[in-house]
Amino acid sequence: MERIKKKIKTIKVDADKCNGCRACEIVCSAFHANPKYSSINPAKSRIQVITYRLKDIWLPVFAGEYTPAECMGRDKYVIDGKEYDECTFCRAACPSRDMFKDPDSGLPLKCDMCEDEPPQEKPLCVQACLNDVLIYEEREEEVEEEAKPEDIEVGVNSLIDKYGLQKVVDVFARVLQRE
Ligand code: SF4
Ligand code: SF4
Repeated sequence: MERIKKKIKTIKVDADKCNGCRACEIVCSAFHANPKYSSINPAKSRIQVITYRLKDIWLPVFAGEYTPAECMGRDKYVIDGKEYDECTFCRAACPSRDMFKDPDSGLPLKCDMCEDEPPQEKPLCVQACLNDVLIYEEREEEVEEEAKPEDIEVGVNSLIDKYGLQKVVDVFARVLQRE
């Protein structure tokens, strides 16, 4: 399989610097409003600042993949003497909580790194955070190119063009017999 260079985008979270201003939530919800910037609703943001005031915890968490099932295990973390509740660090929209679900439609929300045309210089939440909590980074990684179904179809069609349908069918039949 061919190896290709892929651009990996990450946002590093320096959580100790967060003061819970929630500018990141505001700008994310505005950027993803329809039409863009037409409304502000932090409940629709793809970044949520988890807040336990009495424990002095302010933790920005990005929305990740939707999962249709609750996980069986829950983890508690103690970092620098602060205890974080179960699910605090989890990025998933799941059936056991309302976080990362659109409050109107109930549909799951996911951070898309502010993909835009033309591209943004940096994700909007990074630009809005004046405390340098959110640090945008890009790097290149070499990965194996995933074969897409369309690619397989193009490949099979070109084999048929070159060798004829019957020959290709015979080869596939031989391969399938070996499986
Ligand atoms: S904008 Fe920065 S400081 Fe404010 S809540 Fe978000 S991450 Fe924390
Ligand atoms: S990167 Fe963009 S989409 Fe993701 S949380 Fe930040 S503002 Fe929202």
